[in-house]
Amino acid sequence: NILFIRGFMILFISCITLRLNFSISSIPSTLKSLPLEGHISFEEVDLKHAARDFGNRYQSHPIAVLHPKSVSDIADTIKHIWNYGPGSQLTVAARGHGHSLQGQAQAHGGVVINMESLSVPEMQVHAGESPYVDVSGGELWINILHETLRYGLTPRSWTDYLHLTVGGTLSNAGVSGQAFRHGPQISNVQKLEIVTGTGEVMNCSEEQNGELFHSVLGGLGQFGIITKARIFLEPAPAMVKWIRVLYADFTAFTRDQEQLIFAEKAFDYVEGFVIINKTGLLNNWRSSFNPQDPVQASKFKSDGRTLFCLELAKYYNLEETLLVNQEVEKHLSHLNYIPSTLFQTEVTYVDFLDRVHISEIKLRSKGLWDVPHPWLNLFIPKTKIHNFAEVVFGNIMTETSNGPVLIYPVNKSKWDNITSLVMPEEDIFYLVAFLASAVPSSNGPDGLEHILSQNKKILEYCERAHLGVKQYLPHYTTQEEWRAHFGSQWEIFLQRKSVYDPLAILAPGQRIFQKSI
Ligand code: FAD
Repeated sequence: NILFIRGFMILFISCITLRLNFSISSIPSTLKSLPLEGHISFEEVDLKHAARDFGNRYQSHPIAVLHPKSVSDIADTIKHIWNYGPGSQLTVAARGHGHSLQGQAQAHGGVVINMESLSVPEMQVHAGESPYVDVSGGELWINILHETLRYGLTPRSWTDYLHLTVGGTLSNAGVSGQAFRHGPQISNVQKLEIVTGTGEVMNCSEEQNGELFHSVLGGLGQFGIITKARIFLEPAPAMVKWIRVLYADFTAFTRDQEQLIFAEKAFDYVEGFVIINKTGLLNNWRSSFNPQDPVQASKFKSDGRTLFCLELAKYYNLEETLLVNQEVEKHLSHLNYIPSTLFQTEVTYVDFLDRVHISEIKLRSKGLWDVPHPWLNLFIPKTKIHNFAEVVFGNIMTETSNGPVLIYPVNKSKWDNITSLVMPEEDIFYLVAFLASAVPSSNGPDGLEHILSQNKKILEYCERAHLGVKQYLPHYTTQEEWRAHFGSQWEIFLQRKSVYDPLAILAPGQRIFQKSI
């Protein structure tokens, strides 16, 4: 309540001291005159770029794009906009790599900050007993991987794709097959530097300004701009044994997945995906995955059945190969997959982590990367995953979409409960990600309209059946929906907003708050 009152007072004071000495139409010229180490651009080509994202469906044009060279460039710009008070509609969106899906990093008529041009701090790896790396909020994870590997170290928790920024993934959660062991990326950060919605630069961690630290993690960019982060590291392996096995029985599939996320030492990565009505699947895999038993594998026919693929990885160094092979064999012997469908390959650690980039290069060469991506990501409580699978994979989705459908469980005990991230109530929940690419101008099942209508049916079913599902990378258009999404966390989210961004200047593309004018 004290936080709320403080925020309210700030809002009130800024209202009565309305700084009308700036006229709204003069905003671009006053922004131009800001003394910056970087620069601010009003060029159409820059504005157009900032108005697009990976989702390729929403476009909001900003009036300017800031290319900061220092943290004070960001702080001074936000302070400048804060000084206009609530009299202007000017907002600010940090843009990481622009890999949002529905305009979350855009700012209609506002200022977009191109975080990738923020070059401070230079990456600094600290080896020793508890190793960590200090990075800029605009740094790409792929660059962090390469830099830390020079010291034989690596971050512990990843996303499936590494050409995303630290600030972008920490504003959501950052989830991949390592999350069962280490939690998401937001559970692997020690310290942050933040520029709040009033232009104040603050350091925060569990111990220092803990409220801000927890607000920003998973905070959808609502409470401040992440300008620096300290990320925990661990010793890096050289190689990865990468395994895929198939199940026709969903119960056996999830039972094995759930067993594996508690068998902490068995594998380093546990994911899975769904295959609906596809033939010839194993032939596709042969180029990179080798069947354990080529004769039996060649006899396996998917025959259009719905199959569930468990995907596992074990990290190792070359001198451990023999031992790791034995261990992997032992752990696999406890699983109930279809015996003829064991496929394996060995790749370097970098090739494993950067695997989606290889698909990106292929898709780009065919002009299929910059298409609409009507993605839907859901967190589903463990006790409801069977109902969900029966209806969604049995009735709603009749074809494998043009893009993977991921499904894997995580245990909440590894996730920090007091960040802004919204999770289901239960201790174990599944991430189910429908990652479709729409084929432009198709009216068929791979067309945008069809995929959107399918997503809508999935969401309506979840609502109707009261599954307690939460959207990950959430997208809503009304505050009522946001309220329902946050549930009992809504009040605290509001209070935090009133303290750290009382004029609702930041991340307008999330459509949670509107700047008060
Ligand atoms: P942007 O899209 O630019 O920004 C996202 C949001 O964060 C916006 O609201 C923006 O204003 C805000 N923001 C950006 N930078 C900052 C900052 N420095 N400080 C404060 N706020 C900021 N996610 C997963 O969890 N796991 C995955 O495996 C995964 N795989 C993906 C694969 C692909 C191919 C793609 C395109 C996305 C994937 N994602 C995954 C989703 C990804 O984590 C989010 O889309 C993320 O927002 C993208 O990061 P970005 O750096 O491009 O951020």
